[in-house]
Amino acid sequence: MNRIPIEPFFAAWRREARALLRQQIEPTQIEWVELEGDRLDAGQETLRPAAVGAADVTATAATSATPAATAPPAIPRELLVRLKAAACYRAPDRWAFLYRILWRWTHGERQAIALDDPDGAQLAQRIESVDHESEDLVALTLFRRRDPSMGPPEFVGWYEPHHDLLERAAAYFGKRMGDSTWMLATPQGAAFWNGMLLRIGRPATEDSTHALHALAASAMTGEAITSEPTEALWLAYYASAFNAEPAPVPLRYWRMPAAGPPLPARLARERSRLGAQRAAVTVPERPPVEYSAVTPPLREPTGPLATCRRCALWRNAKQAVAGAGPDRAALMVVGEQPGEDENQHGEPLTGPAGQLLDTVLARAGLERSALYLTYAVKHYKWETLDQQRIHRTPAPREVEACQYWLERELAQVAPRVVVTLGATALKALTGAHVNLSEYLGQTIARDGRLIVPTWHPSYALRTADTRLREDIVATIVSAFRRAVELTGPETRR
Ligand code: SF4
Repeated sequence: MNRIPIEPFFAAWRREARALLRQQIEPTQIEWVELEGDRLDAGQETLRPAAVGAADVTATAATSATPAATAPPAIPRELLVRLKAAACYRAPDRWAFLYRILWRWTHGERQAIALDDPDGAQLAQRIESVDHESEDLVALTLFRRRDPSMGPPEFVGWYEPHHDLLERAAAYFGKRMGDSTWMLATPQGAAFWNGMLLRIGRPATEDSTHALHALAASAMTGEAITSEPTEALWLAYYASAFNAEPAPVPLRYWRMPAAGPPLPARLARERSRLGAQRAAVTVPERPPVEYSAVTPPLREPTGPLATCRRCALWRNAKQAVAGAGPDRAALMVVGEQPGEDENQHGEPLTGPAGQLLDTVLARAGLERSALYLTYAVKHYKWETLDQQRIHRTPAPREVEACQYWLERELAQVAPRVVVTLGATALKALTGAHVNLSEYLGQTIARDGRLIVPTWHPSYALRTADTRLREDIVATIVSAFRRAVELTGPETRR
């Protein structure tokens, strides 16, 4: 039995496979052993010279097993493309599986890649899985822009793929994102792009792996990466990927053209889905809010809330949006967070969701001017999708940080009844992880006030189905009617 250590990359497998074919070593005589990963530690070896190391080991093993080497067989490009796609499929037997197919094909068994062959069917299924996940990855990968004053990379992205798609994704984003510098992390490795060169590495130590997970976790919850050890480590990785002494053979290091291919179909579908959702409810037209991805946010200090730094959301928002309404309102409405309009204009619930709220209030017989309107989180949290800003749900730690301001408003306004719009607002008022749908139609007594939970109007705006949308709006109307009954006549029109 020949034990073949291999880097988990197609290029490495291909070199090994060619050597093994030359030696006429049968699949049953090989045990493929995946190596753990490349070193990423800053100041040390930037990226592991895997190809040379692995090839040396293989050559030794193969040569000692079978001395009679033959000319390497020609492999058609179409077959290589399919094998390369299937190599992304994460399975314990993936290198053995690919070699078995290659062996059969080069030994005249062309049905090895046919759909009615067990191996051929398995190959097709693996390629299909990888293709599907690649589409998802391109459409759904999140890139967060860092404060430009903190230096490169400008964008940090992350995802957790089921398969080994980092290289594929990095190549795609290298083309799509042009000159922007970025770092794309996964739990298994990271890609670094400085506008011209792409490098990919895998964590080799527990610390590196831990840092990758920490980066992904902080990014997933929207916490800005600032001067924490995780960021320092990752920025060091980023710098070392381009500045360190070159490794003997820098694997996974290449140039990319700046211009990108057209958007894949999945992203186009995602965009049109979002467009359809936005168009689902007719709201008064407003000119689109101008936004430039390179314009730093405005942060004019206008008071204590405006200079709040209790969480990182202030970094990417234009301003904090304070609550508004009578000093002593009997009824308070708490939404989740400002949207694009509110972020620009500084008034709560004035965007499309606020306009739908006005319709709801009218149906419930309520006067907006009698209510105190505010948010659980005062800064707008967003991300970019195809150069458009879209809302992101605040992380629990952001809701918790902003509770300070909400508590002050509750103490000042002292409402008898609070209507919470959406799960985030309900959580902010109850301090617990709750399933909103379980509380619809109920009234919660807490801290001397009554809480009436309901959907957020933006949920109705996002719902394309007309009947479902109307049901959601009716539920919100009925919550406000109940709130009116609980507060008394002073809130009525
Ligand atoms: S979201 Fe709230 S806690 Fe976070 S910075 Fe803004 S005001 Fe402060």
